[in-house]
Amino acid sequence: MSTRITVPPGPRPGLRWIAFKLRLSGAQVKEFRDRKRQFADCMLRSGVLACASATVHPATVKEPQVRLQRHRHGTLAAYALLALLMAFGPLARPVAQQPAPATPALRGFSTSRAAAQMALEQHLQRLPDPASIEGHLRALTAAPHMAGTPASRRVAEYIRDALRSYGWQAELVGYRAWLPQPVEVHLELVAPRAVLLARPEEPVEEDAASFRTDVVAGFNAYSPSAEVEAEVVYVHYGLPEDYARLRRLGVAVEGRVVLARYGRSFRGVKARLAEENGAAGLILYSDPADDGYAAGDVYPRGPYRPGSGIQRGSILYIFRYPGDPLTPGIAATAGAPRLAPAAAASLPRIPTLPVAARDAADILAHLGGPRVPREWQGGLPLTYHLGPGPATVRMRLRMDEQQRDVWNVIAHLAGQQDDEWVLAGNHHDAWAFGAVDPSSGTAVLLELARVLGELARNGWLPRRTLQIGFWDAEEYGLIGSVEWVEQRRAELAQKAVAYLNLDSAVSGSRFGASATPSLRALLYEATQAVVDPRSGRPLDEVWREQQSASGPVPAGADANPPVGWLGSGSDYTPFFHHAGIAALDFGFSGDYGVYHSIYDSYQWMRWFGDPDFAYHAALVRLAGVVLLRLSEADLLPLDFPTYAAEVQKAAGALSALVRQRRAPLDLAPVTAAAAAFADAAARADRALRAAVETPDAGRRAAINRLLRSVEQALLHSEGLAGRPWYRHTVFAPGTDTGYAAVLLPGVREALERGDWATARREAAALAAALERAAARLDEVSRLAAAEQPAAPAPVPVGASLGRR
Ligand SMILES: [Zn+2]
Repeated sequence: MSTRITVPPGPRPGLRWIAFKLRLSGAQVKEFRDRKRQFADCMLRSGVLACASATVHPATVKEPQVRLQRHRHGTLAAYALLALLMAFGPLARPVAQQPAPATPALRGFSTSRAAAQMALEQHLQRLPDPASIEGHLRALTAAPHMAGTPASRRVAEYIRDALRSYGWQAELVGYRAWLPQPVEVHLELVAPRAVLLARPEEPVEEDAASFRTDVVAGFNAYSPSAEVEAEVVYVHYGLPEDYARLRRLGVAVEGRVVLARYGRSFRGVKARLAEENGAAGLILYSDPADDGYAAGDVYPRGPYRPGSGIQRGSILYIFRYPGDPLTPGIAATAGAPRLAPAAAASLPRIPTLPVAARDAADILAHLGGPRVPREWQGGLPLTYHLGPGPATVRMRLRMDEQQRDVWNVIAHLAGQQDDEWVLAGNHHDAWAFGAVDPSSGTAVLLELARVLGELARNGWLPRRTLQIGFWDAEEYGLIGSVEWVEQRRAELAQKAVAYLNLDSAVSGSRFGASATPSLRALLYEATQAVVDPRSGRPLDEVWREQQSASGPVPAGADANPPVGWLGSGSDYTPFFHHAGIAALDFGFSGDYGVYHSIYDSYQWMRWFGDPDFAYHAALVRLAGVVLLRLSEADLLPLDFPTYAAEVQKAAGALSALVRQRRAPLDLAPVTAAAAAFADAAARADRALRAAVETPDAGRRAAINRLLRSVEQALLHSEGLAGRPWYRHTVFAPGTDTGYAAVLLPGVREALERGDWATARREAAALAAALERAAARLDEVSRLAAAEQPAAPAPVPVGASLGRR
């Protein structure tokens, strides 16, 4: 019996583990597992049964304590002799870790290799260890580690050393980027009374991390240095329609400081719109209705943002181009030619500062003018008014305006075919401790590297080379990943198969994903092979149920859950939008209100995000299955009929927009090219089902080379009008959304602006890109069909997915 006892956080707020000092027999273990649903708050660890008990909130427990108590929990009470509070935290394994259910067929694998692949995946799925993941998260979040600081470099070294210990080759790869840090952040209300604002976040007694004094002040990266004093106008979320409404209401924002809520678009878009509307400055704040007390209990009682919590974040105009603002399109190496900051189109021009809800309350309380429209009212306990004034603020921001070193960690595990790379990555820099954002993803990737390293030590050699990038300065504007992709673009175009991004990977238990359409089928199949930790059921089933529980059930109750489009906001951006590499991004999310604040800490994760690290471990399994299918497949598991269907749907919507705008634009060439793409995709899909069995390695390699190149055929070498860094003709982050994707962006955004000439040019580029992609797929069909006359009824390449 252990005598060193610490009080752990429970499985949920308000619950703590009660460990029965009881070793269960095999029959009892089986009974427990069979009746798992009845004991949702129980788990087994090394044969010891633990159940959760409603108690005081963990945050209020100050000291270790031992307490004898009788506990009744269904029939299991009969097994209980005594219970005591003891550590049952991250070391606890989820109950459900049975081998994954057999998948009927594997997309891209010949029948002769499918069984070996299943065995390999099952081996991998047995290896993830929540304790190892927890150890990484604890280490990664030990100190604030903003990009450009020594702490960020130390995190990079920790990652490199861990990877080397797992048998990977790992190096730091550095760049020199424009990375100003704040020297002075000053905000005060000067009228109608004086209040000093921009107050720091308050520590919470239960989380030691929040007492640290080495966290950067609340600031928006790339805000210029400036001093302004002006009356304030409240602009709701600061979206285009919000400014339009203010104009209709007769409230002018020119020369004023606008106060905007966070949410509904990327903060850099809010900065650009404030600038375009003539504002002198911008204050961004976190409204309690969005992620604070009106949404739920605040930290440490609950997972939401306290009234003093600040959302830091970059306002770089990444929708023009991300990465180092001074070296667009080229790597920010020491000797690279650089723009003057005044010439950089991605740098914002008006001072911008984020504040907490309580600071915003002091401003809003002193705004006069008309009451806001009903739906503009937020969650603060006062009636919101538009202004302008009488609330007047003075804002003084001083940035040190300098370049700093950023450090990526690039790791690889060499495969048999080093001319094909399967890529994964996440950033490692954080505004503060960064438990969810980004370290949950980093901890998952490090554990995945350990597990793959163990497979390699046991004799497995990946077919294709695996590469993992741990990017620096993502928070500033995707700096590390963009510079690396810009530097390696030609090589990536030749070799990259796909890129898996795992940023902010775990903040709860609800699965979600975004992907290039060609990777959706692979993702669905992989979720069939992995178990949801809480229910012990296949993840795809749980995912589908969560989707239908959250909204209207899509047509056909068995339809696959929606997979989002890739917009921007994380490091898949350069891979997909600039280099034309198929990408995907997934994770488990939950109630998470502490984004980019000091409260996104290890302790937050233990109390709310993933107390026993079971969802981190599940993500290691899922990411592992995805990477192993991409690395081991005979023919790359890409699905172009789904892609083409998405393009045709978007082309239809574009035609509707043309009619609605009465635009003098003939979309027939686009529609025809989209149809040709769809026909070619269907033909290629049929041909590939037979060709997957070919023993001819040379032919397989040639087919794979072509399959890899289809995504790149959708790039336009000159890029989108006005933002040439974005080269994909089918997807781009919206100029007015920042994070959310826009489909067929060149044509759509020109149409929305009423710019017919540009729309015409973009439509021609889009049609040409779709024709190129169709031609590559026809080449795939030709190669796949060679020496395959009169193929019998085709064997499905993958499990039937009911796509429509
Ligand atoms: Zn992140």
